[in-house]
Amino acid sequence: MLHLNEGHSAFAILEEIRRVMEYDRIPFHRAQRRVSQYTVFTTHTPVAAGHDRFSADLIEEHLGIFREKMGLSHDDFMALGRVNPQDRSEPFCMTVLALKNSRRANGVSAIHGTVSRLMWNSLWPTRPEAEVPIGHITNGVHILSWLAPQQYQLFETHLGQDWPTRMAHPDMWVKVAEIDDGELWETHQNLNMRLIRFVRRRLQLQAERLGHRETTNQIDQILDPDVLTIGCARRFATYKRGDLILSQPERLAKLIEHANRPIQIIFAGKAHPRDDDGKRLLQRIAQFSYTNAYRRRVVFVENYDYNVARHLVQGVDVWLNTPRRPLEACGTSGQKVLLNGGLNLSVLDGWWNEAYDGENGFAIGHGGMHNDPDVQYQRDAEYLYDTLENEVIPLYYERDKDGIPHYWIRRMKHAIQSLGWRFSADRMVRDYANRFYLPAASATSAETA
Ligand SMILES: *Cc1c(COP(=O)(O)O)cnc(C)c1O
Repeated sequence: MLHLNEGHSAFAILEEIRRVMEYDRIPFHRAQRRVSQYTVFTTHTPVAAGHDRFSADLIEEHLGIFREKMGLSHDDFMALGRVNPQDRSEPFCMTVLALKNSRRANGVSAIHGTVSRLMWNSLWPTRPEAEVPIGHITNGVHILSWLAPQQYQLFETHLGQDWPTRMAHPDMWVKVAEIDDGELWETHQNLNMRLIRFVRRRLQLQAERLGHRETTNQIDQILDPDVLTIGCARRFATYKRGDLILSQPERLAKLIEHANRPIQIIFAGKAHPRDDDGKRLLQRIAQFSYTNAYRRRVVFVENYDYNVARHLVQGVDVWLNTPRRPLEACGTSGQKVLLNGGLNLSVLDGWWNEAYDGENGFAIGHGGMHNDPDVQYQRDAEYLYDTLENEVIPLYYERDKDGIPHYWIRRMKHAIQSLGWRFSADRMVRDYANRFYLPAASATSAETA
């Protein structure tokens, strides 16, 4: 079994073919057929420019010796990575190599499957787009790595000690309805407080490093456990539009400074060292968080890593995700908040496009797209503020006499019940095993038999 994750790994196919040729003493084309029978390929990139392509010269320089060992001419070798083998001007594409030599191929969400079929239709020119042989298996996260211990215990009490072994079964999650609202909310609030303490500690260290003088007392004024907490952490690739929520400063200021129903935002993230646009985006966000007016309500946590991510996904009320549709192949950070009780507020892209049912979180817009990215940005910004103002904030602050937001909690429970089992790595691995690995394995044994 050879499972290739993204085109970068596709040369593994060639080495495997070479190995089979040598061991089984069979010619290239037979070895190629055999290897394809047990190779599956997962693509992750919905942007054409994001797929590695190499010039014929470069390929010859680095793989010429290898090519000769396989007994292929330069043109035959290049054909392995060309959409049109006859086109001598076409570079060698790693994704083409992988798609041409795999038994199964998939994108990482339903919408990404659709985008990939369109993108690679030219490899199967006689087929309509819908019949391009690229399916999808939606990514999931490793639940036990992301779930807060307090939340784990809550599930243990209400779902049974063996709940982790049954997490891929939707039936098990029905019982979440029986958890007392007060108990669930108290656990959530404790996690939120834990996040706030973590962020304050990190901000103190950041302030010391930058030489800002901030007293412990001032630091303790930053963030408030009774305020709606929005988390927004990502790689600052431009398509993720991490600054969408800052795009209308006056409207945002009203939300942050509201007397009874304010919001607070915790940003974290890194940009790629060579992505200057991404760096500028990050800079804008960091500077916004340093302005005095918002110091207590908008914070930027440096050095985003798994530890920062873990605290964030376990403690936020809302996870904000604003990619430009359809460029988020799947996105997984929002899946990490599900079982911790956070609600997603996201553009209908990647996994959220198939997860959102109207009651298990919040949608930004209706899945619209526009050729002009600026127009799409403006529209999505409008939708984002509208959803915050009309749905998210009112629901969060609607409390009973004990201060418990029952309608909000109903959504938390519904998100856990309807989504926790679907977007776990447990379900994902089962899908790969049942649909990709096992059929491929039996096909191989049939061929050798
Ligand atoms: C989950 C995670 C990511 C990926 O999140 P996306 O939503 O796919 O962007 C990136 N970095 C860290 C540290 C994570 O934990």
